[in-house]
Amino acid sequence: MQAMVLRAFGPPENLRWERMPTPQPQPGEVRLRVGAVSVDLFQMEFRSGRALPQAELPRIIGNGPAGEVVELGADVQGVAPGQRVVVANNISCGNCRYCRIGRETLCAGLNNHRGGMIGAHRDGGYAEYVCVPARNCVPLPDAVSFEGACLVPNTIGPVVKACAGRAAIRPAENVLIIGAGGGMGLHAVQAARACGGRVIAAIRSRRSIAAVLECGADATVSTQDGDWTDQVKALTDGWGADVVLDFVASKDTLSAALSALAPAGRLVIMGYFPRGSVLETPTWIFTEERMITGNRSAGRQDVADTVKLIADGRIKAIVGKRFALKDAVIAHRAFEAGEIVGRAVLVA
Ligand SMILES: [Zn+2]
Repeated sequence: MQAMVLRAFGPPENLRWERMPTPQPQPGEVRLRVGAVSVDLFQMEFRSGRALPQAELPRIIGNGPAGEVVELGADVQGVAPGQRVVVANNISCGNCRYCRIGRETLCAGLNNHRGGMIGAHRDGGYAEYVCVPARNCVPLPDAVSFEGACLVPNTIGPVVKACAGRAAIRPAENVLIIGAGGGMGLHAVQAARACGGRVIAAIRSRRSIAAVLECGADATVSTQDGDWTDQVKALTDGWGADVVLDFVASKDTLSAALSALAPAGRLVIMGYFPRGSVLETPTWIFTEERMITGNRSAGRQDVADTVKLIADGRIKAIVGKRFALKDAVIAHRAFEAGEIVGRAVLVA
C-alpha cells in the first residue's frame, strides 16, 4: 500500500509518500480502508517533534481516521466487514483507576507503548489501510460522511466533551469562547449551542465574524479591543461568563478569561498552556467557587455522542479544504500558514 511516512521529526517535507507493507489485523483488530483523515494541531506537534518523546519513528501518522472495515482479525465482535466507522484515538486499558471511573482519556496507559494514541504510538491513518482495535471503532450512519466523521476524534469530539463534560454547560448559561474563529473554536460554538448555552465568540480577526455567526454565536467581541472583557461583562448583565473555553491559552488570554469568569464559573483550558507559566489566581477563585480545568482529547463515548449530533444536524463538521492523501505535505504547510477555515481533510 501507499502511505505518508515520517522517518525524522521536522518540517512538513519530512513526510514521504512511500510503499509500505499492507498491515495485517492482530487479534481484536480490524483493517480499514481509509476514507478520510483530518489534519490538525496534534499532528503538527507530533511531526515537528514537540510532543510525545516516547513515540518512535518511522511512523505513519494520522489520528482518528474514518473508513470502511475490510478485514477482521481473530476474536473480533460487534464490527463487520463493509461497515463504515470512525476510530476513537486513545487506546485505553479499560482497567486502570481512570478507565474505571469513566475518565478513559486520562488512562495511565496512554503515554506508553502498551496503549497510546493511534498515529503516534502505533501507525495511523495517513495510508490506504490501517489496523486499529475493534473496540475503538464507532459505526457511522449513512448521513455522516467520512470527511465529516474524521474531524470527530480530534476536533469535534473533544469540544463536545469540554462543553457537556468538563464545563457541564447548563441551559441558557453564558459561554465565552476565546479563539472561536479557529478550527476547534468554530465547532465549540456549535457544541456550546447544542448544550443550550448562549455563546459570546471572542475572535482576533474581523474576518472570522461571519463564520462564528454562521455557527450560531449570539454575540462577538474582538480581542484587539483593550476593553473586551468589559464588553463580556456588559453582554452578561455584569456577571461575566458562566463558562470560558480558552483555545488560545496564552498568558494574556488566560488572565482575561479569569477576569471574565462569573461566580461559580468554569474555565476550561483547551490550548497548550505555555510551559513554565504560572496562572495567577485571585482569591475569588476560592470565595466565589470558580473552577479551572483542562480537557484532554475525547473518549469512545464522546466520539459516539458527537457522531449522533452530526447525524441529527445539530453540529456541522466544517471541512475548509480537501487534499489527496499524497499531498499531505501541502496540507500541513497550509495548516501551519493559517490558511484553513475549520479543518482540512486528506481523502484517500
Ligand atoms: Zn486505563
